[in-house]
Amino acid sequence: MENCLFCKIIAGDIPSTKVYEDETVLAFRDIAPMAPTHILVIPKCHIPSVDGITPENSAVVAHIFELIPQIAAAEKLTGGYRVVSNCGPDAGQTVNHLHFHILGGKELSVQMA
Ligand code: 5GP
Ligand code: ZN
Repeated sequence: MENCLFCKIIAGDIPSTKVYEDETVLAFRDIAPMAPTHILVIPKCHIPSVDGITPENSAVVAHIFELIPQIAAAEKLTGGYRVVSNCGPDAGQTVNHLHFHILGGKELSVQMA
């Protein structure tokens, strides 16, 4: 997908600090961390947001959710962690490539909205 920041990261055109990669998924550290551990987990196929998840592409989303506990364990987030996906402007989505934030390493705010 042209002009997609995360597709460029997947292609290696923009550098990132990778924490996990396989054929269909990439996880890397957020450039502006909001917690001591802040990782983004993305499908390598371009899905714009949660709104773009369909029966045809949802297998990669299931795979991401199988990987998230493994990534959290590797990061030693033994006290817990939060998984967030902002969808659309009201939620503050700034990159239009589906991504799941993993936040942890401290006691997080309970504010949800
Ligand atoms: P959103 O606001 O769409 O939910 O999340 C986008 C996230 O991407 C933000 O947390 C932001 O800090 C992160 N981000 C934006 N540009 C880059 C970049 O070039 N590299 C990395 N690693 N993260 C980025
Ligand atoms: Zn993309």
